[in-house]
Amino acid sequence: MHSEQPTPGRPTIATIDLEALAENFLSVKRFVGSDVKYMAVVKANAYGHGAVECSKRLEAEGVDWFAVALIEEAVGLRNAGISKPILCLGGIWPGQEASLFTHSITPVIFRLGQVQELDRAAAAAKKLDVHLKIDTGMGRVGLRPDELDAVIEELTNCKNIRLNGVMTHFAVADDLEQSAFTNNQIDSLNIAVGRLRKAGFSPEHIDMANSPGAIAFPRSKGTMVRLGGVLYGLGGDVLPRSIEKPELTPVMSLRTRIAQIKTVPAGETLGYGRTFITARESRIAVIPIGYNDGYRRALSNAAKAIVGGKFVDVVGRVSMDWTLIDVTEVSEAAVGDEVVMIGSDGENAILAEDLARICSTISYEITCGITSRVRRIYSQRI
Ligand SMILES: *Cc1c(COP(=O)(O)O)cnc(C)c1O
Repeated sequence: MHSEQPTPGRPTIATIDLEALAENFLSVKRFVGSDVKYMAVVKANAYGHGAVECSKRLEAEGVDWFAVALIEEAVGLRNAGISKPILCLGGIWPGQEASLFTHSITPVIFRLGQVQELDRAAAAAKKLDVHLKIDTGMGRVGLRPDELDAVIEELTNCKNIRLNGVMTHFAVADDLEQSAFTNNQIDSLNIAVGRLRKAGFSPEHIDMANSPGAIAFPRSKGTMVRLGGVLYGLGGDVLPRSIEKPELTPVMSLRTRIAQIKTVPAGETLGYGRTFITARESRIAVIPIGYNDGYRRALSNAAKAIVGGKFVDVVGRVSMDWTLIDVTEVSEAAVGDEVVMIGSDGENAILAEDLARICSTISYEITCGITSRVRRIYSQRI
């Protein structure tokens, strides 16, 4: 595999495997089918993986649409040369309307009044495609079904706005025990689409499914699926456990190198708060990663790392810039050796899901949380 060579600097690096990203997309596409369009959700810097690089590769692999949370994220993709349609899931804040036209961004309409606001901006520019978000049970942004007549009226009155898509978002598609709730959400969206069609609209895109929806609820496919997590190989904690799924490979790995090794006698305490006491004479390695890199403090005395192919314990408190690991069992470990925090080495692997479990969160929050201080290196063969 070809990897960019890192420039000199701290060796705490997230490697983004663009081959795995492409394979995950193609694997999900084989599983879900070629009869729908694919929207890649690349908000939050592609869940920490690097939105520009991931989007370029996904565009080359045939993704139909991109979704971001912010106008700024969409503008970033356009400036990097992304040409496929981009849906902005989040709000357009006052003063940002012009970007929709100059950068060809499709906004989501989620509350009454937004159609008129955008119609005024469109009057001065050109017709604007929008996607309508219906809140069928998530309780977050979106028009409630009882607001549909009012939004139909707005759309009818605003001649510069064209309804291009209708969408909803699932609250519990990852939990099959609550599949009745998800099925209700699907039914509500289909009813809303029926009402819009009856009112004379013909939206091209009907989309509901996030990653768990696309994998576990085939009837939620609509005309397009919106995929985030599965593209990045983060299936483990957001897909229902007991179902058949496509093969997925983690895209991000996180590695650093040993900065110092010291031999510490039994009975000494290590780190802030003195939370770890050596039970034996120990070889302790200091590694340049900490919670300001997104290696969370909750991992203190709980996570493992991999050195020389062997699991080792994180000992003491994770601090802002430094973490300690116990390499007593890895006799060959030396300053400069690689330490895997997320990723695999030989037989052993640490998943973002494993760190998430320790932090009582999901893998998305772990990869999103790897901060910009951590250099990203993109590896690919093409
Ligand atoms: C983030 C998001 C998605 C993607 O969800 P995944 O579980 O990562 O596939 C899809 N739709 C909307 C509206 C989202 O906000």
